[in-house]
Amino acid sequence: MKLYLVVPCYNEEECLEDSARQLLDKMHVLAEAGRIDPDGSRIVFIDDGSRDRTGDIIRQLHADHPEITGIHFTANFGHQCAVLAGYHFARGKCDACISIDADLQQDIEAIDRFLDEYGKGSDIVYGVRNSRSTDGFFKKLTSQIFYRMMRLMGTTIIPNHADYRLLSDRALGMLAEYGEGNVFLRGLIPTLGLPSSTVYFDVKERTAGTSKYTLKKMLMLAANGITSFSIAPIHYVFFAGVFILFVSLIVMIVTFVEWLQGKNVSGYTTVVLSIWALGALQLIAIGIVGEYIGKNYIETKKRPRYIIGDVEHHD
Ligand code: UDP
Ligand code: MG
Repeated sequence: MKLYLVVPCYNEEECLEDSARQLLDKMHVLAEAGRIDPDGSRIVFIDDGSRDRTGDIIRQLHADHPEITGIHFTANFGHQCAVLAGYHFARGKCDACISIDADLQQDIEAIDRFLDEYGKGSDIVYGVRNSRSTDGFFKKLTSQIFYRMMRLMGTTIIPNHADYRLLSDRALGMLAEYGEGNVFLRGLIPTLGLPSSTVYFDVKERTAGTSKYTLKKMLMLAANGITSFSIAPIHYVFFAGVFILFVSLIVMIVTFVEWLQGKNVSGYTTVVLSIWALGALQLIAIGIVGEYIGKNYIETKKRPRYIIGDVEHHD
């Protein structure tokens, strides 16, 4: 079988050469064991607009090793787009493709088990980390909040699965049909509905360099994950409006009773009522407009409405 490894790289000059060596070694071991075809298999490095020597290192690696491929972005489009570009490139050229981070924090020895699962018929194999012990408190907390929120919004994502996964060529072909601009692969891939399985692996410390996921990039990824998979927040606005309208009814009754008893300051009733009732009406109106924008938003994605896996047909 032909295996493609897809490796997104952003300012990874400090660890790229070492990672490339480890990946090449792994490929040779797999080829020797007869598990992959050494001629057709590739390691694809995607340079996501790095500002350091990453691009040059990839060019040099390609010159030294024919099994290394380089794809260079003109600017920093982000990790998700880099992985996606690798998938698009690998499509039709390989039997299966595995994406892995350039810092090799994910254990490359798990690749054997990815291939086992692929051999057993899985089109998608999710790499799931055993523990988050190498992460700091903040990263642990934020990722937990994120998974909780995603579940609340009704999106299926595999907890503790990042972008270390195997996709068969069939899955790559289907993924290529998704034309949306906001890419969130972790949410997208389960929607393919293909046979999948899970492989557990340990996460190591970063060998060199620092995390390329700044807080801003992490927050953007989380916001993207939520807003490109559900319009639930818009529904919540609408329901909030209905709820507040209900509250304003109660306020209306209370102030009316007080007015009958002559308890309140004159003018108070109208002011309080208009604040509550108008606020509620405004929220409802925003909610309704939001529904339409939400529909529009879903439509403009032009996602495939269904996916055909197999066809039985005689001509
Ligand atoms: N990365 C990328 N573009 C970016 C940010 C990160 O291609 O804008 C790559 C990075 O080179 C690495 C992977 O995404 O291969 C994961 O990044 P990192 O290891 O810094 O994230 P962390 O492991 O800290 O979550
Ligand atoms: Mg990392």
